[in-house]
Amino acid sequence: MANDPSATGTRQPPSLETEVQFLKGVGPRSAGVLAKLGLLTVGDVLYYLPRRHEDRRHLPPIALLQPGTHATVRGRLGEVGARPTRGGMSIVTAQLWDSSGSVTLLWFNQPWMRQKLARVEGEVVAYGHVKQANWGFEIHSPEWETIEEGEDAEEFARLIPVYPLSEGVPQKLVRRAAQSAVEQYLKYVVDPLPREVFELARLPPLAWALRNIHRPESETHWDKARRRLVFEEFLYLQLALAMRRAETHQEIGIAFPISSLTHTHGTSGTLFEDEDAPVETTADDEGPLWAEVHRMLPFTLTGDQRRVIGEVWRDMESPHPMNRLVQGDVGSGKTAVAACAMLAAVRCGYQAAMMAPTEILAEQHATNLRRLFDPLGIEVALLVGKQTAALKRKQRDRTASGEARIAVGTHALIQEGVGFAKLGLVIVDEQHRFGVLQRAALREKGLGNPDTLVMTATPIPRTLTMTLYGDLDLSIIREMPPGRKPIKTHWRPPHERAEVYDAVRKLIENGRQAYFVCPLVGESEKLTVQAAEDLYYRLGKLVYPDLRVGLLHGQMKTKEKEEAMETFRRGDLDVLVSTTVIEVGVDVPNATVMVIEDANRFGLAQLHQLRGRVGRGDAQSYCVLIADATTDDARVRMQVMTETTDGFRIAEEDLQLRGPGELAGTKQSGNLDFKIADLTTDGEMLEVARQAAIRLVSDDPALSRPEHARMLPKVTARRGIMANIPIS
Ligand code: ADP
Ligand code: MG
Repeated sequence: MANDPSATGTRQPPSLETEVQFLKGVGPRSAGVLAKLGLLTVGDVLYYLPRRHEDRRHLPPIALLQPGTHATVRGRLGEVGARPTRGGMSIVTAQLWDSSGSVTLLWFNQPWMRQKLARVEGEVVAYGHVKQANWGFEIHSPEWETIEEGEDAEEFARLIPVYPLSEGVPQKLVRRAAQSAVEQYLKYVVDPLPREVFELARLPPLAWALRNIHRPESETHWDKARRRLVFEEFLYLQLALAMRRAETHQEIGIAFPISSLTHTHGTSGTLFEDEDAPVETTADDEGPLWAEVHRMLPFTLTGDQRRVIGEVWRDMESPHPMNRLVQGDVGSGKTAVAACAMLAAVRCGYQAAMMAPTEILAEQHATNLRRLFDPLGIEVALLVGKQTAALKRKQRDRTASGEARIAVGTHALIQEGVGFAKLGLVIVDEQHRFGVLQRAALREKGLGNPDTLVMTATPIPRTLTMTLYGDLDLSIIREMPPGRKPIKTHWRPPHERAEVYDAVRKLIENGRQAYFVCPLVGESEKLTVQAAEDLYYRLGKLVYPDLRVGLLHGQMKTKEKEEAMETFRRGDLDVLVSTTVIEVGVDVPNATVMVIEDANRFGLAQLHQLRGRVGRGDAQSYCVLIADATTDDARVRMQVMTETTDGFRIAEEDLQLRGPGELAGTKQSGNLDFKIADLTTDGEMLEVARQAAIRLVSDDPALSRPEHARMLPKVTARRGIMANIPIS
């Protein structure tokens, strides 16, 4: 037992920080090998999860193998051979026999395997995907190992962990290290979670979990063990988010006196007097502000819109800064919610700023908002880069003086330090976050601690919302405005293009307009523009020579882009050919058909966004995906698109196809960096962890109680990762 530190007492005291070399059966040389897997300490080994378990309790006789399944077989090697292929590859083969028959094992381009196999004497187990070949069963590139002399039956016949490996690291070494770590060190494992926390989640203690990760009695035990580790990992992130959220709720912000507004018609509040009258009631569906909202909007709000506006106003009334995320599908009417929040700010005597991701969208917001606010005498300033210096100065002056109560622009609005007289509300219409960090930036610029409302342009899966935006309060709009006809989506192969073009022509002859979108060509802007120009030429000159066809792409000057968009909006173009430059939120109600060329080259989220450009009026709208199903993945995407228009469902499907990292983009992936947990499959556990975190933080906001002390360093580490997310 020379390697048992508890026995020697001369080396480091036993802990999970102990180096792997002190594990029984490891030693310095093997420690060097394990380091290739990043396994430096006992703790690393204990937390190194097997990829799968091999059930050696019930190995099938070779004769009964099922082609198309994965299987483990046991037997002795017969003839070993090697042959070159025509393509210049080499193949090593070996027959594996048991009493029922044999299976051929094959290795490609590993000529040294031949010698290795020739040296094998005893029995072998092999694992892999069974194929039916001409002369019997085959397993290509199997995982395999020898059964050592004296490896007793009991040791063999159980669930054996199979660990992920890298070049030159033997499976058996990792197994031995894990086995020793479990035997020698589990007694030193201290559970960082208080017992009631994991028991409430119906999960086992940490030591139990670690044992069953490596030596489970059954698949059920392994699963339970893994879920415990996943829970713990999620819990630290959720605690970090819940603590940050609690801190925002502690900060001093503006208490907009919404409920005590008595008369709003025709007034804009007073800008400079402090009128923090006591708040008597909370915002509900009654009261002068609601009355004004109903007068201001040309439509009746949906139930979801009313509920979300209520949530926003309640946040605004509270003396702490609002930090809320509104999620709603394209066309669900988020702009109306934003307008109501701004109206409340203005009527309480403050200014509001709204930021959009592009200039086109900023202008569109300004146009829409002016339509609502002009009749109320509330001035909306627009600040975008391409304005003349004189106009820019005028808009800036009016914003700085407070004459303009609402300012709309891109992100530059705040970054370039536009001055405000009394900024109370910031609305960000975009996909990425604008949270606590940016709030700090606002304070630095002397803009106070305004309420912030973030609106996502596209739904994201719930698991991502919980990890990326878990520190924000969340409002969801699911309901679509009434009378909207769901967009009909068709998927057509390229050879039916002509029919698609004819059908589009019929719609245009009935007075409608059409978008044609061509995809990005690789990463190349230049090739993409080329593709757009080709399509523009083909449609304009060959397919629809008698119609008015326009072009819009990223290399055009801003002015040209706007002209094209404006002409289309006016109805002076029948067809607009474009790249994805204007994918978000563009609103031309008479455009009722969207044709997406080579649709298989788009991801689901993007297809859904593009489709959202139509279906904005009362008429039936259509989306046609022209695509070959080049891959399974492409076929799933096309099918999902034809089956549903529900952005939340599409987001979930997208998560399954692409995984969380891709979906969120690299910018925010710090929060998605999990060692064990997997957001695509562990959503349920995430929910459980989130509830636990909220409960803990509401009880002990700084986690300062002694029983929480062991969690704190892990939570702090998580907060460090979060703080490193760059500010967009
Ligand atoms: P989003 O920003 O969520 O994509 P918008 O706010 O641009 O959606 O709204 C899409 C369209 O629906 C706009 O033309 C808007 O005027 C209209 N709209 C919004 N809410 C309603 C409603 N409750 N009833 C009828 N039309 C509505
Ligand atoms: Mg919008």
